[in-house]
Amino acid sequence: MKNEEKGRAFLRRRRQDRLITAAREARQRAVARRSGFKVGAALLTARGEIITGANVESASYGLTCCAERVALFKALTEGKARFVALGVVARSPGGPMPCGACRQLLAEYAPEAAVWVADSRRPKQIREFTVAELLPAAFLDAGKKIVVETGRARK
Ligand SMILES: [Zn+2]
Repeated sequence: MKNEEKGRAFLRRRRQDRLITAAREARQRAVARRSGFKVGAALLTARGEIITGANVESASYGLTCCAERVALFKALTEGKARFVALGVVARSPGGPMPCGACRQLLAEYAPEAAVWVADSRRPKQIREFTVAELLPAAFLDAGKKIVVETGRARK
């Protein structure tokens, strides 16, 4: 491996570690008294900012909101728009996969983001996905844009 490639791989690894660490910290603030299933998420913006979220459960189960959506809604309402990565952690073998509702919102608001998932007990073992892999042929606003297989938006 050339030095330039090594440098890129190192930076990428550091970025992943930083985001997964932020997601693990956010996970501690999950409000999951009913299930005990705590999930943490961290979004990385193109400017290098990190916005975190954790799941919040409700006695009315259907109102429960996932960590990914809490982080995304926080970020969007704080005026953040371009996301390069999302880290998600929970005590789950291989890491927790985002649910269908979160995949839909990621396709709409973070189509370019790399999705990194890890078991909170094994934060160095990160699995990576693109949003397009998680939700191919996503439903988007009619006539606005189409997400193609590469995950890039096209007019
Ligand atoms: Zn979800």
